[in-house]
Amino acid sequence: MLTLKFGGTSMGSARRILDSADIMAGRAGLDRISVVVSAVAGVSNKLQAGIDGCISGAVAAPYVSELRSIHSDICAELKSALPKFNAEAVMAKINVCLDELERLLSGLATFGECPTSVHCRIMGMGELMCAPIVESVLLAKDQSVLLLDSRKFIYTTGDQKEGDPDYARCSEALAGYRDGSSALAQILLFPGFICSWIGGTGAAPVMGLLGRNGSDFSAAIIGAGLGASRVEFWTDVDGIYTADPRVVKDAILVKDMSYEEAMELSFFGSKVLHPKTLAPLAAKGIEAWSLNSHNPSARGTRIGKGPFESEKDAGPVRGISCLKDCAMISVSGSGMKGRKGMAARIFSAVSNAGISILLITQSSSEYTISFCVRKAYANSVQDLLKAEFALEISTKIINPIYVHENCAIVSIIGDAMKQKRGVAGTFFDALASRDVNILAIAQGSSERSISTVINSDDGDTAVRVAHQFFFNTVQSIQVFAFGAGTIGGTMLDQIREQQKALLDQGIDIRVMAVANLDGMLFDAEGIDLENWRDKVKACGRRTNLDEILDFVKETKPLNPIFVDCTASYDLPERYIDIFKAGMSIATPNKRANSMSMDFYRKLRETANNMHVRFLYETNVGAGLPIIDTLQNLFKSGDKLTGFNGIMSGSLSYIFGQLDDGAKFSEAVLEAKAKRYTEPDPRDDLKGTDVARKALIIAREAGMSIELEDIEMISIFPEGFSLEGTTEEFLARLPELDSYFAKKMEELKKHNKVLRMGASIKDGKVSVGMLEVGPEDPLYAVKGGENAFVFHTARYTPIPLTVRGYGAGAGVTAAGVFGDILRTVSWNVSSF
Ligand code: ADP
Ligand code: ASP
Ligand code: MG
Repeated sequence: MLTLKFGGTSMGSARRILDSADIMAGRAGLDRISVVVSAVAGVSNKLQAGIDGCISGAVAAPYVSELRSIHSDICAELKSALPKFNAEAVMAKINVCLDELERLLSGLATFGECPTSVHCRIMGMGELMCAPIVESVLLAKDQSVLLLDSRKFIYTTGDQKEGDPDYARCSEALAGYRDGSSALAQILLFPGFICSWIGGTGAAPVMGLLGRNGSDFSAAIIGAGLGASRVEFWTDVDGIYTADPRVVKDAILVKDMSYEEAMELSFFGSKVLHPKTLAPLAAKGIEAWSLNSHNPSARGTRIGKGPFESEKDAGPVRGISCLKDCAMISVSGSGMKGRKGMAARIFSAVSNAGISILLITQSSSEYTISFCVRKAYANSVQDLLKAEFALEISTKIINPIYVHENCAIVSIIGDAMKQKRGVAGTFFDALASRDVNILAIAQGSSERSISTVINSDDGDTAVRVAHQFFFNTVQSIQVFAFGAGTIGGTMLDQIREQQKALLDQGIDIRVMAVANLDGMLFDAEGIDLENWRDKVKACGRRTNLDEILDFVKETKPLNPIFVDCTASYDLPERYIDIFKAGMSIATPNKRANSMSMDFYRKLRETANNMHVRFLYETNVGAGLPIIDTLQNLFKSGDKLTGFNGIMSGSLSYIFGQLDDGAKFSEAVLEAKAKRYTEPDPRDDLKGTDVARKALIIAREAGMSIELEDIEMISIFPEGFSLEGTTEEFLARLPELDSYFAKKMEELKKHNKVLRMGASIKDGKVSVGMLEVGPEDPLYAVKGGENAFVFHTARYTPIPLTVRGYGAGAGVTAAGVFGDILRTVSWNVSSF
C-alpha cells in the first residue's frame, strides 16, 4: 500500500487533474494505493471569502455561481479530453453541495455570524466537490477506484476546525481496507481536510476539519492507518527547499531531511507540509516524499529517519521558515522576579482556553515573559491574562499586558546546528545587516531550531538575507543610478559588459533604475541594459527620487545601492533620506562630504544605524585608491602627520609645462584646448576643487574642519583681476607670464620647481603653490598626473605615495563600479 496526496496545486485545472490522474494510475500499476485529494486550487479560499462576506451582509449567490463555473468549466474540459468522463453525474453531485452552500451562506447573512459547525460544513465542500471529479477521471481511465468518505475514517477531538485525531479509532475504521483485507479496489480515494469531530457533547459525530492545509495531515493519518509503506505528497515544487522558493529565488532543493527537521520547518510556517503531518508517519517509521506533479520525473525530497548520507557535507542549517500572522504577548513587572508559579499561571490560563503557544522567551532578569500565539488569538489571550492577573495589575506589581501585533517568526532549522558554533551569531548578523529589528529570540530545547520574532513586514527580507548568509548563494546588488552622463553612462556600460561574468562569480548585479534629465527608466526585475540610452529617452517617466525610496521601503530588496553620478548640488542633501530607506550610496559627487561637519557626521551616523554603506572612493583622485587606503590605515591605528598632493590633472599639466620653459598663458590655453580644465579655467586655477578634496582627506584623517577653515593662497599676484568673462580673463593671462617666468628663474637656481596643490601640516590645511626640490615626490609629477604624499606615524621617513592619472570617465566610472561591488562579500559568512 502506497498513499498519495494531491494538493490544490495539483488540482488547479483540467490539465493538472489529468496529469495527477496519470501519476495515480502509474502508481496503481505497481501497488494498491490510497489517494487523498484537496479542493481545486483557490476554492477553499473562495469558501472562506464567502463566509466572511456573508457574515458582513453580502449576498450568497455570486460566491456560489463563481464556484459553480470553476467546477463546471473543469468538468467540460475533462469531458472533451476524456469522452468516458461522466460530467453530468459529477456535476449533479457538485450541485447538491452548491445548493447546500447557498442555503448555509444565506443563513450567515441573516444571522451575521458563523457557528463552528457551519464553518466546517462550508469549508469542507471544496474537497467534497473535487473528489468526485477525480473519481470519474480515474473511472474513465478504466481504473479500479473506490471513493470513500473520510468522515467515516478520521475522528478528531480538540478544536473542531483543527482537530487532533483519535488514532485508535481511525485505525479501527480503516482496518477493513488494509492490504490482505477484503477491500478489492486498487485505488482508494479520499477527500482530504474533512473528518468527524467527536469532541463535542452530543453523542453523534459532527463534521470537523484538520486545519488549513489539512489534506497533508489527512494523508498521513490514512497512510499510517492503512499501514502504507510510504506517503507521497504531490505539489507544485520539486521537493522541499532550503526556503520557500517563492520568496528566495535561488533556494536549494534538499535531498533528504530528518522527520524532526521537517516537523520543525512546517511547525514554523513552511507551507510545504501541514505542521502535524509528520508525527504519525515518524511514529511508524513511514517515509514521506515531497514530489512535483508538474514534473513527476524529479527525484523529490525524502523525509525519514536521519542522518542521511547526502547531509554529510551540507552546512548546519537545512531550512529557513517564516510564520506570519503571529502576535507576541509580554507579561512584565517587578512582581515577576523570583516569584514561583508565574509562568505556570500564564501558560495554564492560555492552554485552558485551547490556544496553542508557538514560542516562549524569558528575559534573563526574569522581569519579562514573552510568548507568541496566532494573531487571531491575541485579543482573547490579552483578556484572559488581564483577568488572571487583575489583582497584580491593579497593585502595579505587574504592568498592563502588552501585545505586539503583526509579528512573524523567522526560524533557522537543522539537526547539525548544535554541533556548530556561531550559527546564532550569523543569523542575527544577517538580520542586522538589513536593519531587521529582532523583538525576541528563542532556541528550541533540542537546539534544532533558532527562532526570532520580528515585525511581520520584515519577514521575507529576513528569510532572504538569512538564506544568503547561510547558503552563500548568489549575492545580489540592486543599482539605482541617478545621473547617466559621462561618468554615470560609462559606468552603466561597464556594468552591462560585466554583468554576465559577475553572475558566473556569484554576483547578481541588476540596475533597477536609470534616471537623468531625459527621464527615469525603472524595472523592478532589473533593466536590460542593451540600448539603455534610447530606453531612458523613450520611457516617458519623470525622474522622481521619492518614488524610488517608496519602492525600496516597500519591497526591501536585499542590497540596494543608490549611485549618484550627478553634479547636483541639491541631491546630496537627500542622502540621509536615502540611507533611511535602507540603501547604500556610492558617488563621485564631492558635495556631500564637503558640506558642514555636522552633516558629514550625520551622514555616517545614519548609514551606520541603517547598516548600509557610504562609498565615495572617487571623491579624491578618481580611480586612484586613496579613500579606502586611508580608511584602512587609520582604522588600524596609523596617524597622519603631514600631507602634500597634486590633486588636479589640469593644474598638474599647467605647472609641469612651466618646468620646460613654457609661458604661463600658453600652458593654460594648451590645457584648456586639451580639455584638461573646466570650460572656465578660473575654476581650476582658484583651487576650490582642490580645497574640497583636501577637506575630504583631512576629515578622513579625523580632523574636524570646515571648508572655510582652509587657507587659500592665491597663485595670482596682487592686483591681478579675476573679473570678467572667460574670454576677457584669458586675454589678460599674458600679463602673468613675466611674473611666473621670474619665479621659475629664481627656483631654477635652487634646482626647484613650482607645483600647485594642497598641504596638511600641524592641523592646518592650505591650498596654493608649493616649491619642491628633487627629493620631493611631487618634483616629477606633471603632465596631468596626480600624486598624494602621506606622511604618517608608520610611513616615515619615506612617505606613502600614490601616483597616477586621477581623471577620465573610464577610470572614474570604474572607481564607482568598484564601490558598488564593495557592498557584497563583506556580509557573507563561511557556512
Ligand atoms: P498544495 O496545494 O499542493 O498543498 P501548497 O501551496 O500548500 O501546495 O504548498 C506548496 C508550496 O509551499 C510551494 O509552492 C512553495 O511555494 C511553498 N513552500 C514554502 N516553503 C517551502 C519550502 N521550504 N520548500 C518547498 N516549498 C515551500
Ligand atoms: N483545501 C484545504 C485548504 O486549502 C486543505 C488543503 O488544501 O490541504 O486549506
Ligand atoms: Mg498544502
